[in-house]
Amino acid sequence: TETLHIIGGGMAGAEAAWQAARMGVPVTIHEMRPKVGTFAHRTGHLAEMVCSNSFRSDDDERNAVGLLHWEMGAADGIIMQTARAHRLPAGGALAVDRDPFAEAVTRALRDHPLITIQEGEIRDLPTTGHWIIATGPLTSGALAQSIRAATGAEHLAFFDAIAPIVYAESVDMSVAWMQSRYDKGETEEEQTAYMNCPMDKAQYEAFIDALLAAEKTEFHEGETAGYFDGCLPIEVMAERGRETLRFGPMKPVGLTNPHRPDVKPYAVVQLRRDNKLGTLYNIVGFQTKMKYGAQTSVFKMIPGLQNASFARLGGIHRNTFINSPTLLDDRMRLKSRPSLRFAGQVTGVEGYVESAAMGLLAGRMAAAEILGRDLAPPPPDTAMGALITHITGGADAKTFQPMNVNFGLFPPIDAKGGRKGRKDRYKAYTDRAKDSFRNWLATQ
Ligand code: FAD
Repeated sequence: TETLHIIGGGMAGAEAAWQAARMGVPVTIHEMRPKVGTFAHRTGHLAEMVCSNSFRSDDDERNAVGLLHWEMGAADGIIMQTARAHRLPAGGALAVDRDPFAEAVTRALRDHPLITIQEGEIRDLPTTGHWIIATGPLTSGALAQSIRAATGAEHLAFFDAIAPIVYAESVDMSVAWMQSRYDKGETEEEQTAYMNCPMDKAQYEAFIDALLAAEKTEFHEGETAGYFDGCLPIEVMAERGRETLRFGPMKPVGLTNPHRPDVKPYAVVQLRRDNKLGTLYNIVGFQTKMKYGAQTSVFKMIPGLQNASFARLGGIHRNTFINSPTLLDDRMRLKSRPSLRFAGQVTGVEGYVESAAMGLLAGRMAAAEILGRDLAPPPPDTAMGALITHITGGADAKTFQPMNVNFGLFPPIDAKGGRKGRKDRYKAYTDRAKDSFRNWLATQ
């Protein structure tokens, strides 16, 4: 049987190796640490948790990341299995004793008869054999250049600049309205491309004060190079002048508020549709380094967003990732070079759990291919299926930014009961997902 090569033994690479090996395919993991380090990793272990020690909510009935835990457990995932074995008390979250966890993953892979671990940096994209590239947010510079050369410079980013993403159903449409600036666009999709939230002068001034006063996070050491390239945080824009936002992302031109056609808004916050389903909208131009708590309170000052629920909050980080909606097929293969698969955070998912989940799929798909089979992705009503569908097709390629798993990525379930029914509705999503995921596993 041919060998599967994996570059990077992080969350995704470790999981991909485990999955392929348990299908009987020999695997070589190429990991640059400890020979070559990154600014965030501290050890030479595989699957090192670089920052927080939490895999987030473990509630598999009402939380999308908890559901992802469940699916990874059902698929015999090494990351989830080992995390549970090294669990620390943390209420509903799955917190992990990080060093013993990473040591145990490393040992399990090293001891596996079909897995070889080779130390050293891979600097160029390989041209022969089956490969998975799982080099993560801190992909080494040389390899990143090689990926850029193969994909086109505009398809590899070194930073994410994430504007907060809101659940469409939580926007108050008695205040906000749908309209594209200057009424551009004719199809229904174009006409629902933007939501608008109006501000009068007093609301705008109060908003600027809150932005300036909000608590911000600092960049990590070694993280900042290139940060001012077109992704200024809104609070930095506000620091440059109280009017900067009103002439930038919050300009009120080309828009008429149908709730108050007689009053011209002083500023307008625009939200842009973030997925084909139309369940998620991002706040245009609102990338930020405000702390999460501050973001929620500041953004709820925006008229129409007073009850907003956030699918994810904003951020700016050093993060190497490719434009998956353009570059990858639904088997996670580079369309232009199908012997190369991508997995983990470099595909534009975000977080330990999401990255490991994409490693799980890439490992299974690559192994199936080596064994002469084809493995379709899980259906989009599962957590893994929703994520892979989003990154390889559901997301807008032009504005693609990394994504956490959330229920906005799932095909909607009839919203009977409205917001009151939300808890039960989430249970309905997870029940549907578990059935669907079990069926997908049974086909293999
Ligand atoms: P990684 O886990 O980073 O693994 C990639 C591996 O590839 C690394 O081991 C690296 O050494 C190796 N590698 C890179 N280039 C090469 C090469 N050319 N040749 C060989 N090997 C190579 N996520 C969270 O869920 N919670 C957090 O709190 C959190 N905090 C973060 C803080 C920072 C500063 C950063 C940068 C990221 C953070 N993340 C966090 C995101 C987290 O790093 C990822 O979600 C997760 O680790 C990604 O898994 P991965 O396998 O894709 O990448």
